[in-house]
Amino acid sequence: MINTERCWASTLGNCSNKMSREHLISKGVFKEKKASVHGFSWCKDRFATVGIESLTSKILCSKHNNDLSVVDNGGIEAVDAIEKLIHLCNERKHSSPSSFEVISLNVDGYLFERWLLKVVLNLSFQNKDKIGGMGEVPGIPPLYLLHVVFGKIKFSHYMGVYHLVTDGSCVKTDSEIVIVPIVKDSTIGVFYISIYSIDFLLSLTPAKPPENLRSMGVSGLPNHILDAKWLYRVHEMTAAKGGIKSHEVVFNWKN
Ligand SMILES: [Zn+2]
Repeated sequence: MINTERCWASTLGNCSNKMSREHLISKGVFKEKKASVHGFSWCKDRFATVGIESLTSKILCSKHNNDLSVVDNGGIEAVDAIEKLIHLCNERKHSSPSSFEVISLNVDGYLFERWLLKVVLNLSFQNKDKIGGMGEVPGIPPLYLLHVVFGKIKFSHYMGVYHLVTDGSCVKTDSEIVIVPIVKDSTIGVFYISIYSIDFLLSLTPAKPPENLRSMGVSGLPNHILDAKWLYRVHEMTAAKGGIKSHEVVFNWKN
């Protein structure tokens, strides 16, 4: 795995000389602590299911790691809400919709987006592919992405998080998070990220999104994901039964 001691935010300057032992996927976010990752140079060609605890590497200095603690907290909040969304669906499966008290869970959309970016930068640092459309050196995050993850600017030009609108099928997995980089011409243009089987994409390509992943020539993912429409910065994910709203996750994109 990665063992060169270098901070992936070092292009920004001001690194402290202490490296932190960074959890590649923020500690405390997932309960079962299982992640599936695929397509990174350290997991070869197989779909690797790994313990989140073991996914650590010295890839951020303690200053830059501390600066991103707000992003980790945003990730915890978002993942908790997504877990509750699924949990309530199961819990209310056999209840009468008329008895539902509508539950609304709020998520800061931009922090969720920055947390996803932080996780994929952790995983792709010092790998063999360029990271995003602005990537120049393989495995090194371009300055633009550093500015986004540290909150200096927001993603623009169609980059950022998309929700995949599927037909309701979901991939059964015992992993809480699945991450797959989608590589074309030695550049990771987009990441597929499933959290508790809710499907997202993080696009790092400054271009209008394609109709779907299949039209980009992607294969190797289930059909309902390849054919799903991309929905940019989703505002609400609503669960309903018999036309009656049960609960929702509301993403705030205002600040
Ligand atoms: Zn640093």
